[in-house]
Amino acid sequence: MEKETRAQGLSRRALVRGATLGVAAVGFSATAATWVADAAAGPFDRLPRLDGEILLDAASRAADSIDQGHIVTRTPGAVLRPGSVGDIAKMVRFCADRGIKVSARGEGHTTYGQSLNDNGLVIEMRALKRIHRIGPQGADVDGGVLWTELMTAAFARGLTPPLFTGYTELTIAGTLSVGGASPGAGSRGLQIDHVQELEVVTGRGEVLVCSADRHADLFKAALGGLGQCGIIVRAKLDLVPAQPEMRTYQFTYPTGDGAVGDLRTLTERGEVLGAYLTWAPAATSFVGQLIISVPVTPGSPPDGEHLLRGLSQPPSAATAFDLSYPDWVNQVNRLVAQMDAALDYDHLVKPWFDVWFGASEIERFTQDALAELDPHDYAPGSLLLVIPAKRNGVDHPAFREPRADSTPWMYLFDILDNSAAPGPDPAFATDRLQRNAELYRKARTVGGSRYPIGALAFTKADWIAHYGAAWPEFRRAKERYDPRHVLNPGPGIF
Ligand SMILES: Cc1cc2nc3c(=O)[nH]c(=O)nc-3n(C[C@H](O)[C@H](O)[C@H](O)COP(=O)(O)OP(=O)(O)OC[C@H]3O[C@@H](n4cnc5c(N)ncnc54)[C@H](O)[C@@H]3O)c2cc1C
Repeated sequence: MEKETRAQGLSRRALVRGATLGVAAVGFSATAATWVADAAAGPFDRLPRLDGEILLDAASRAADSIDQGHIVTRTPGAVLRPGSVGDIAKMVRFCADRGIKVSARGEGHTTYGQSLNDNGLVIEMRALKRIHRIGPQGADVDGGVLWTELMTAAFARGLTPPLFTGYTELTIAGTLSVGGASPGAGSRGLQIDHVQELEVVTGRGEVLVCSADRHADLFKAALGGLGQCGIIVRAKLDLVPAQPEMRTYQFTYPTGDGAVGDLRTLTERGEVLGAYLTWAPAATSFVGQLIISVPVTPGSPPDGEHLLRGLSQPPSAATAFDLSYPDWVNQVNRLVAQMDAALDYDHLVKPWFDVWFGASEIERFTQDALAELDPHDYAPGSLLLVIPAKRNGVDHPAFREPRADSTPWMYLFDILDNSAAPGPDPAFATDRLQRNAELYRKARTVGGSRYPIGALAFTKADWIAHYGAAWPEFRRAKERYDPRHVLNPGPGIF
């Protein structure tokens, strides 16, 4: 109650900046366990001098109290808009010394509180978004850069990251913290397969550069590691030559029959850059679309008859269109912008379900799920997806692959559904969380592994089971790099 009163008092002050405005009386009162912006408030520990700013006003804290899911609300006590990596290191040290939780937040596009905390510090990583260098050896970027920003800068030099998430208005560090699956280029694996080096602020507030050869335990814990051992502030990433144009082929499956089989045929034959499936709710069923991406080499257009052979539909049933490479990379951004305008998509409740499967399990799981789900329960905007990714044999234990099977391919099954009206909608969320729990239980029995971007209630025991054989190594890295367990409490792992 006292905490609440104090917070409301703070909210009446418009904006409290740190050292940049010379406001000395900003800090944290350990006795009251609250952030303080008033020297009259009693004894408290002052913040270190910062290049950026600390925001304690209610609007800034409220903006970082929700994510794309609109299911969980947790209000931080303070928001850091860093002006430098040094700011992050200083504030993590300040918080670690006092046991204050710290969350790194990219675009907040995970959907179940992963980037949130109660009364701790949220660091807005978008404040650091410099592209330091781009060249044939790779890109050197701040963690807060968006994938679409890197694409634009790299494409101007004829280069590109090997693969993108479907939506590219996500921070580089945010997707490296989960894995980074690509609907358009799954043959190139995951985004975390293409990282040369990271600069990380650990939970001790040290700034460390890590790679497969240097602080390798930290590097492994950071890739797909939900920020549990460190905050990724800078990354060196692979770049490859970019094609000027991409061709997209699309098949429609009115009842879904044959769709997953065709996806597997195309994917595992390895002749296309990427292929994935979507299902949208329609009057009587979910209607499937198989979307295939092929680079267009100037002077030598793709041979659709050959590439699309041997599927349940003839190549002539496909529609085809070409896009410039940047338009192809950003096409989901345009779709999301349209859904925002039409449905207020940004504010809909999104109880997403996301699980990886081995190749031999994806077809049965998808068919069973489609048979169970009633399309009438799924509001406009909702979509089911299956996205393949090749297992490249890169060692990233914090990203949990599904059980290995006879092919090097794994398949991400997503239910990206949403409420019909802007949230919150606790009854809808509860119902869908129950659905997710049941689907996850079934997925586990066939070796499925959670992709932790969605909405699934997990206990600590569930997390330990999720990490399986990798748990002792992950826990050791946590104890070494974040011994006070202050970093990124959102997922509830430690
Ligand atoms: C419309 C839409 C489309 C999407 N499409 C895809 C897709 O095609 N493929 C795919 O793989 N995913 C996809 N996602 C999921 C997305 O990759 C994840 O939600 C990703 O984490 C979002 O990045 P973010 O910058 O919003 O991260 P946030 O949600 O802000 O953070 C995610 C997690 O990482 C931590 N974190 C954030 N920044 C850092 C950092 N700098 N260092 C350490 N930890 C950090 C956070 O604390 C949190 O636990 C999509 C999401 C949306 C909303």
